[in-house]
Amino acid sequence: VGKFGALMGDTHIGEEMFEWATELFPLCRSITGAGVRETLAYLRERVLPCLRIVEVASGTAAFDWHVPDEWHIRDAYIQDASGRRIADYRVSNLQVVGYSEPVDKEVDLATLQKHLHSLPSQPDAVPYVTSYYSRTWGFCITDRIRRQLAPGRYHVVIDTTLAPGSLTYAELILPGREEREVLLSTYVCHPSMANDNLSGVVVTAALARDMASQSNRRYTYRIVFIPETIGALVYLSHHFEDMKRNTIAGFVVTCVGDERAWSFMPSRMGGTLADSVALHFLRHYAPSFTHYDFLDRGSDERQYCSPGVDLPVVSIMRSAYRGYPEYHTSLDDLSLITPQGLADSLEMLKRNLTALERNRRYRLTCYGEPQLGRRGMYPLLGSKECAPAGRTVRNILAYCDGEHDLIQLAERVGLPADSLYRWIEELASAGLLEEAP
Ligand code: ZN
Repeated sequence: VGKFGALMGDTHIGEEMFEWATELFPLCRSITGAGVRETLAYLRERVLPCLRIVEVASGTAAFDWHVPDEWHIRDAYIQDASGRRIADYRVSNLQVVGYSEPVDKEVDLATLQKHLHSLPSQPDAVPYVTSYYSRTWGFCITDRIRRQLAPGRYHVVIDTTLAPGSLTYAELILPGREEREVLLSTYVCHPSMANDNLSGVVVTAALARDMASQSNRRYTYRIVFIPETIGALVYLSHHFEDMKRNTIAGFVVTCVGDERAWSFMPSRMGGTLADSVALHFLRHYAPSFTHYDFLDRGSDERQYCSPGVDLPVVSIMRSAYRGYPEYHTSLDDLSLITPQGLADSLEMLKRNLTALERNRRYRLTCYGEPQLGRRGMYPLLGSKECAPAGRTVRNILAYCDGEHDLIQLAERVGLPADSLYRWIEELASAGLLEEAP
């Protein structure tokens, strides 16, 4: 908790987001297929009626990539000679390798082993494994069960279809007074895992609903729910000109559900408005946050910040991908995320967006320090005890020079931008400040 207190995210909305996550958790999402469509349809029905769902045909080019065939899964299991199921898609969709091609045959243990994935260091976790661009099949099981497998015959069944279809994504454009826009991007391609990344899906949905309810937006909001990597490439390739021209800040919303940590992923070169505002609020409200290097990136900032694209995109996360033991395993379940974790992440992002909306340059309307005392804004009786508040006001005024924007001013004065803005409003209503042109 920072010097200026906890974020105090709205618990009611936290419970609501957790409920969405609970309902979406069982769906078998992948980069294409029914799980993504069902997830997006749920969001449109429950949270965002204006969500536009888009289908992009397999084979469509996206920069150096193509939309792959669509994957559908109906069932998958391994059965031993006694009929016992070693792996079962119906128990957990993590137990089959994502994008597995169909198979239905008897194999011996040595052959089966070549298609099994487990984590010796986490013997009770089922790992999350995919093979989108190289055709294969496989199963993921706990290492504890794998060690118990006896030589013999195993019946492997994967009932899937890999055929031309489409990739599904969703977008919501919320127009503002300005064409300049803020990007919110989250990914909807992970099967049953909570922090990475159902938390990102539900927090983005709640944030989008909140922004949609605001009637007087300054900026336009571009909010996208896409499969990671290929979805970002497809989306960027279709909207590159607009996004490059208009984006002032963007956030990849991922890993925002637990309460154990705060983390930050900068843009590729750092120093953008998104970097400034995110770091500003993290320093004030989560000062012990982990500042990752762009070399440790792991999500769609890989596309949004790639050379030449270079959008001002960052991530504010809780326990970040690769940075927590349950990451990409069956242990990243609903017990890891909490209503409060989701609510505080939402509140953090909301404060960032609010500060961006208010981020203007202000200047004094007079030369010299204005006389605050006669306006009731400064103690007339000079004493040491009364000094701090007066000093704050004078410090704010000292940098209302038409050059510092709200976030820079807040950084310079050492106040969170949301607290500082209350002073700005008061000083402006007293006629001492005006917006710089
Ligand atoms: Zn992931």
